[in-house]
Amino acid sequence: MTISNESALVLFSGGQDSTTCLAWALSRYQRVETIGFDYGQRHAIELEQRPVLLKKIRGFSSDWDNKLGEDHMIDLSLISQLSHTAMTEDIEIVMQENGLPNTFVPGRNLMFMMVAATLAYRRGANVLVGGMCETDFSGYPDCRDDTMKALQVALNLGMATRLKLETPLMWINKAQTWQLAEQLGGANLVDLIRADTHTCYLGQRGELHPWGHGCGTCPACALRANGYSEYVAEKTA
Ligand code: ZN
Repeated sequence: MTISNESALVLFSGGQDSTTCLAWALSRYQRVETIGFDYGQRHAIELEQRPVLLKKIRGFSSDWDNKLGEDHMIDLSLISQLSHTAMTEDIEIVMQENGLPNTFVPGRNLMFMMVAATLAYRRGANVLVGGMCETDFSGYPDCRDDTMKALQVALNLGMATRLKLETPLMWINKAQTWQLAEQLGGANLVDLIRADTHTCYLGQRGELHPWGHGCGTCPACALRANGYSEYVAEKTA
């Protein structure tokens, strides 16, 4: 793979998708930094896994260790002041009248990208990498490709920059996300993602299932578990 001279800022939450995106960026760019957001998530486990993952990712190769630069944690607790959702409050996950689950935090990904772009401006990064995906999710409108493309234009117009928004998972499903991790870092990266990333909406770690830790029944666990079984089935087919 050709290594680009560009430097990237990866939106890194400590979940499966953003960890795969981080490996993707490390295999492509000369320099990679990470940004994470604390927005009053119901469960801070995902955030607690970030430094664990970063340390282990550094251990993968001296190349990745050399490329991986600063990690930036940003306080976005204002999100929980602005909206009431099942991501930030202890309420049941339900489908709303507008067809979106109440785990949808309106404007969250838009704000994440805007804040990341502002930091990228200061850090001299010209690529933002995010795990947004149109294929598998609950139809979150801020994960759509058109939303990201429009945002790229708006950010560049508003800041007089030439930032690129890269979303390597946009058109692949969860099984293919596991496959991508395997291509980027082999079985070791798959194992790291399995054991150390966190996805569960309920914040449960519990036992280590074949697909990782979690309650096993919330929408995020179900998606992750199904994707993993499909990935394993395709591997052994
Ligand atoms: Zn769960």
